Amino acid sequence: VRACPSIRVMEGLSAHELAIENGRAAGVFARPAHAATAPQPLLFKARAVVLASGGVGQLFAVTTNPREARGEGVAMAARAGAVIADPEFVQFHPTAIASTRDPAPLVTEALRGEGAILVNKAGQRFMTAIHEDAELGPRDIVARAIFREIASGRGAFLDARAALGTRFADAFPTVYENCRSLGIDPAREPIPVAPAAHYHMGGILVDARGRSTVEGLWACGEVASTGMHGANRLASNSLLEAIVFGARIAADIDGSVPEGRAGHDIAPPVIGSASSPDTPFVDQLRKIMASHVGVERDGSGLAHALTEIARLERAAGPASLFRNIATTAKLIAASAYAREESRGGHYRTDFTEPRAPWRHRTFVTLKEANRIAEAAIAALPAAQKEETQVSA
Ligand SMILES: Cc1cc2nc3c(=O)[nH]c(=O)nc-3n(C[C@H](O)[C@H](O)[C@H](O)COP(=O)(O)OP(=O)(O)OC[C@H]3O[C@@H](n4cnc5c(N)ncnc54)[C@H](O)[C@@H]3O)c2cc1C
Repeated sequence: VRACPSIRVMEGLSAHELAIENGRAAGVFARPAHAATAPQPLLFKARAVVLASGGVGQLFAVTTNPREARGEGVAMAARAGAVIADPEFVQFHPTAIASTRDPAPLVTEALRGEGAILVNKAGQRFMTAIHEDAELGPRDIVARAIFREIASGRGAFLDARAALGTRFADAFPTVYENCRSLGIDPAREPIPVAPAAHYHMGGILVDARGRSTVEGLWACGEVASTGMHGANRLASNSLLEAIVFGARIAADIDGSVPEGRAGHDIAPPVIGSASSPDTPFVDQLRKIMASHVGVERDGSGLAHALTEIARLERAAGPASLFRNIATTAKLIAASAYAREESRGGHYRTDFTEPRAPWRHRTFVTLKEANRIAEAAIAALPAAQKEETQVSA
């Protein structure tokens, strides 16, 4: 990328809002990502905007995703009126190393492919009773089994002693190094594991050319929802999708973007004028998402999450950058609340099976998500409900 003369890389900036001109994306507003002070947002005008901001893992307390994967691209598009697809479908990887490290180091599935087994504290192998493929069952099933062992206090560990033993360091050097840095010797002891938010099947709805529903806006990679991954991505398909759609988007922009300079009539940004630290709000949000919008969900927990998201949004204030993060969290929680069934990465303990009326994708705007959130909060019993009002 750096060697390409037509590409100018600008680092250290964080985009927070799309610039919209006459209903068309005409650039982005951004600001220094780690500025101690609060400079005014910078406007980058563009005739075509491609969002490629990655996933949403950092909205959850435990994730394999890097710090920047905060779902801001989804929120920026949603706030500009874009349709968001399948936001409730978040894939949880079954085996991250259970530690306080953020992001949580991944323990690759290939270890289970080599014969490593999942056991609890008592040394009992629990997957054989749950799925015919045992440890090699689908990600959501293994993730739920581990989640339940941990929730019941029995704990979950990946035991590679018999399968790999002293071969571990040579066969899986990255996992080995991560374990050693956390004081675990995986050749001699089981690795404590926990599910972690890993991949977002949902995102900005795009067509086969990568176009979103907002004119002038394309989306590529994990921030987009092409529908290719269904409700539960198969491992290793996301990079392939990003490469294919990256090329398609470049070709589409080449042939479709109008000549001439845009950006004469751009409205000022709604958020980003206050850059107060959002860390306390983000920390609270991540705990709420993990507790109520995580591996297992139910209607009352999701309604509670929506109440809490609204409370945090109000506390952070209308100009806060936190609003983007809260917006994406709300889209996920509201769509998970609405989908009264279990399918792929979305599992409801109050509707444990797939249901025919829900055999379709979710297409939702921010306005619709706000309506779902308001109804969910209104339906909560008074005792659980704080007086709340969902902000648009
Ligand atoms: C540990 C791990 C292992 C994986 N292994 C595989 C695998 O083997 N095969 C596979 O297919 N997939 C794998 N995945 C998934 C895959 O890596 C991701 O889906 C993919 O990297 C996403 O690419 P992307 O370009 O969409 O986003 P990213 O690679 O996450 O890039 C997004 C970029 O946008 C920037 N950004 C974010 N927000 C903003 C903002 N507001 N303003 C400015 N910049 C912003 C980020 O800093 C980052 O540079 C793995 C994921 C993880 C976490």
